[in-house]
Amino acid sequence: MKDINFKNRKVLIRVDFNVPLDSKLKVSDDTRILASKPTIKKILDDGGSCILMSHLGRPKANEKEFSMFNILYKIEEIFERNVIFSNDCIGWRAKELSQGLKPGEILLLENLRYYQEEINGNYSFAKKLASLGDFYINDAFGTAHRAHASTSVIAQFFPKAKCFGYLLSKEIKAIGKIMESGEKPIVAILGGAKVSSKIKVILNIIDKVDHVIIGGGMAYTFIKALGGDIGDSIFEPDKEDMALSIIDLAKEKKVKIHLPKDVIIADRLDNSANIKASDSFSIPKNWQGLDCGPKSSIVFNDIIQDCKTILWNGPLGVFELSRFSEGTKALGRSVVNATSNGAFSLVGGGDSVAAVKMFNFESGVSYVSTGGGAMLESLEGKSLPGIRAINMR
Ligand code: AMP
Repeated sequence: MKDINFKNRKVLIRVDFNVPLDSKLKVSDDTRILASKPTIKKILDDGGSCILMSHLGRPKANEKEFSMFNILYKIEEIFERNVIFSNDCIGWRAKELSQGLKPGEILLLENLRYYQEEINGNYSFAKKLASLGDFYINDAFGTAHRAHASTSVIAQFFPKAKCFGYLLSKEIKAIGKIMESGEKPIVAILGGAKVSSKIKVILNIIDKVDHVIIGGGMAYTFIKALGGDIGDSIFEPDKEDMALSIIDLAKEKKVKIHLPKDVIIADRLDNSANIKASDSFSIPKNWQGLDCGPKSSIVFNDIIQDCKTILWNGPLGVFELSRFSEGTKALGRSVVNATSNGAFSLVGGGDSVAAVKMFNFESGVSYVSTGGGAMLESLEGKSLPGIRAINMR
């Protein structure tokens, strides 16, 4: 994108402005808008105009609460200019407004998902969107794993006039730094509730990493499969065999798998529960493991400080409750410390991003991904439709 001059071009940009709104329909977190600011600014500075298209939420019947109009004021505030709004993303109104667009102006289209055709990847809907601009940029990593009209199908109408936006490029580079060119030793930290949602990730990264730290709820399926007593901790009985196969595979590949040695157990999932530290392989009946224990945090920290590349996906405990957040916080501190000593750290996919934000670790890690599902699918080794569509000549 940096080598292209957008002077006098009408650039259709697929952004991910699916931002959270509060009860008064005001933007409560503008991170996603700010994330695409460099892309939009470059086009405006070059003397081009921007036609922004995005989805917002999951509308069923064009409900007003999902209108892009709700976020218009925030875009105006961020770009310090009036932004033109089209109350339809296709049709004569959108066409007229895009035709009248002058250099330096921004046009915001109504929610793409007011049309089912967007999600279905409908060809003629994509063609109508494409007719609004003369250049196409995809800057929406959050939806890059979807083969939707605006994220993938539309690209074919711009065979020689399409590229990634700065945000999407950054995401691709960050994933590449882990999956292709990561400096060794590499550690992947995987947490979260269920092992079932991470199996494909583990199987794909096992060839690339030196250490895998498994924490959070998913650890108990491994511990149970290895013969441990896990009390009432969360586990997936149908994934025990898979857990054992992963352990065998890791041995074969000389990758070290680290499970928590101790965990914080509780008599209920509640901030006022009785809690104590326990050996992770001998959790008593009626108790459940809800956080990583202090001894494990020390072991995990030693591994992390020795690594040059760190991938973190998923919290190590029920971090949303303060009583079970210490393990995730300790892990965050370890990752930040290793990063300040020169390691590259990528946090992405699932709730680890929420944890990093909640405990203010964002500025201390190298990169926080903006895409949950897209990040997970990238780590699974899948090629994403939104990225394929731009690369296709
Ligand atoms: P994920 O979306 O897969 O990253 O999972 C995140 C969720 O896992 C969070 O909501 C955590 O509260 C939950 N979680 C982490 N550790 C545990 C645990 N030991 N038991 C139950 N849930 C957990």
